Amino acid sequence: MLRHCESRFAEWRLPPSSTITTVAQELSRRRGRPIHLIPLALGADQPSGLSLTLPTMDVVAYEAETSRTHQEHIIAHELAHIMCGHTGSISIDENVARLVFPNLDPGLVREMLHRAGYGDEHELEAEIMASVILRRMNARPERAGPTPPAEVQEVLDRLEKTFFSDGDGS
Ligand SMILES: [Zn+2]
Repeated sequence: MLRHCESRFAEWRLPPSSTITTVAQELSRRRGRPIHLIPLALGADQPSGLSLTLPTMDVVAYEAETSRTHQEHIIAHELAHIMCGHTGSISIDENVARLVFPNLDPGLVREMLHRAGYGDEHELEAEIMASVILRRMNARPERAGPTPPAEVQEVLDRLEKTFFSDGDGS
């Protein structure tokens, strides 16, 4: 699986000095849709990152309150899920996306977003792909990603409140 991930990523021919932002931009270009990297205060006992496949864009949220190195790992892991086409139960299609809006059922959102939505094999592949990505990058810190559109930020703020503020660990 390592070799498979290495050869898939090598096809991108990214320069060795690529940053996680470069990787996200290249993935975005290849998918023909924007990818937004969003820092969120997720809290230590929550998943440290998540990816959402929305109808017109991909969103990667990562823990804001941690080291840059850890953030790069989280982002690389989530980009790897997107790159490898893991949708799991985290993929949100048009029908489901409206749940993110005001009438959302927090329990359902929680279920959709939970990392456990990915099977072990997908987690393993994402982790391997992440390590392949990180090996290709230099460690120079850089601000991640463009600022998301206001409506996306609004959704994310709501997600953050609903899903992450008063986690009961279930
Ligand atoms: Zn994962």
